[in-house]
Amino acid sequence: MEDSKKTLNFIEEIIEEDIRNGKHGGRVHTRFPPEPNGYLHIGHAKAICLNFGLAVKYKGKANLRFDDTNPVTEDTEYVEAIKTDIRWLGFDWEDREYYASDYFERLYQFALQLIDTGKAYVDDSSSEEIAAMKKGPTEPGIESPYRNRSADENHQLFLRMRAGEFPEGSKVLRAKIDMTSPNMHLRDPLLYRILYKEHHRTGNKWCIYPMYDFAHGQCDSIEGITHSICTLEFENHKPLYNWFIRELGIFPSQQYEFARLNLSYTVMSKRKLLKIVNEGLVEGWDDPRMPTIAAFRRKGYTPASIRNFASLVGVAKRDNVIDLSLLEHSVREDLNKIALRMMVVKDPLPVTLTDYKLNGELVEIENNPEDESQGTRPVTFSRNLLIEREDFMEDAPSNFFRLKPGGMVRLKGAYIILCNEVVKDAHGRILELKCSHIPESRSGNDHSGIKVKSTIHWVDAGTSIDVELKLYDRLFRVEDPNGEDDFMQFINPESLEIVKYARAEAALQKPDPGKHYQFVRLGYFKLDHGFRDGVPVFNRTVTLKDGWAKSKHKSN
Ligand code: ATP
Ligand code: MG
Repeated sequence: MEDSKKTLNFIEEIIEEDIRNGKHGGRVHTRFPPEPNGYLHIGHAKAICLNFGLAVKYKGKANLRFDDTNPVTEDTEYVEAIKTDIRWLGFDWEDREYYASDYFERLYQFALQLIDTGKAYVDDSSSEEIAAMKKGPTEPGIESPYRNRSADENHQLFLRMRAGEFPEGSKVLRAKIDMTSPNMHLRDPLLYRILYKEHHRTGNKWCIYPMYDFAHGQCDSIEGITHSICTLEFENHKPLYNWFIRELGIFPSQQYEFARLNLSYTVMSKRKLLKIVNEGLVEGWDDPRMPTIAAFRRKGYTPASIRNFASLVGVAKRDNVIDLSLLEHSVREDLNKIALRMMVVKDPLPVTLTDYKLNGELVEIENNPEDESQGTRPVTFSRNLLIEREDFMEDAPSNFFRLKPGGMVRLKGAYIILCNEVVKDAHGRILELKCSHIPESRSGNDHSGIKVKSTIHWVDAGTSIDVELKLYDRLFRVEDPNGEDDFMQFINPESLEIVKYARAEAALQKPDPGKHYQFVRLGYFKLDHGFRDGVPVFNRTVTLKDGWAKSKHKSN
């Protein structure tokens, strides 16, 4: 979407070759097939951008298909969340919202077809026995004693499995392929198991459920998917999918594998994310520390920044780990253009301008220095101000250019001030700075002739308001928590810092929930779920410092 002039990735090369050869009449049809057993994460975002992006680029179609073959872990909450996230990312499946469960009857007929042609059989062995007979990849497996049942007997047994005549785990349906194959997936894989579980869509209609491997490829064929794109771990399953296509004589969807997206300082498996949620280490799936799309949205990432990240990462054939800072870089690039600048003081230190005689005045401050068209806003300035405590230093080294005793600094959009006196309490804590201002130095009309090295932000003490800031750090302390057995022990205990009473320009009393803000020097922020006791609560989307751009600059 963002960058069509880039060189083609390997999947685009295949597609363009197929179009040139008139394969499937030049038709391009992809799908995104989530299992509704958790919220979508940034890895899924990558797969969504790829599948829907290809459809857009080649004027094809992309389906949304819920791979809901496992009634145990799936839920409609997840179905709704997944749809919200894909729409938010900017993609549209039009009327093509499909469910593997919609195809249960057809999959069942496919199974009967295999049974009737002698290509599938009902096995009464236990799951332990089946696993033992499969053996390992270095030695041939053993055929099940039930393998040579007649087609008729298998047909009858399978009907009875469906009718609920057998207990769970007592029988399975297996494909009859090759117990000696070096590819373990071809050693008579399971096609159906008995499960007396209610399904979130089909209710209690079924007590046999297809295995993922039997459902996935056939669903692609039913939908006429031309390019079935999945992650590398399914490469070994492809011979099985192709076997089904051949034996059933169905539409030959072709599978292509690309490398999963992995991000540093993050886990990405839904099972692990669910554990973090269930153990209460975060507020929920959309806690801004999570790598989910819902969390990124709440935190203030934009859809464009995620799409752009997906395009920067590209489509790889080998597994790799992408630096979290690349994602943050992409977010900053977008926010820098659109965010409204505001002044917020995180740790306020009072400043009194002893020589300021006016009753206050309005100064005009630019809304976005990157974009003049965003204009300016009036901000109240007065004798009593608040500055950032860290912007003052009493015993400052010579390279400290912010405020120090006897030193001068510019207040953004206003005047140059001079620090004359430091007021402390009995314990030596600084309570207040007494300063004077240079009336001729007003921003926009400065004829003071004075040059200062630094500009600092401030708010007016009288009109500013309280805001709460939630500042996030990485969820994990180590770069690759996935490599660790017990990933939970590497959770960063300091991943959330709450600043309960920062002080902000009065305009933030009515923040726009849809808007992205840059609080000068503190980072980009977005309103969280709203207010706490009348105080607006903001999530820090990302800090201003761009580690990625810097390191790129260095290496150039
Ligand atoms: P998880 O391991 O997180 O549970 P999954 O592969 O089981 O992921 P699915 O719901 O089956 O989750 O995934 C839907 C689609 O998203 C699949 O086509 C899968 O290949 C793709 N996908 C999942 N994780 C990633 C990832 N990290 N990078 C790229 N694509 C991914
Ligand atoms: Mg999966």
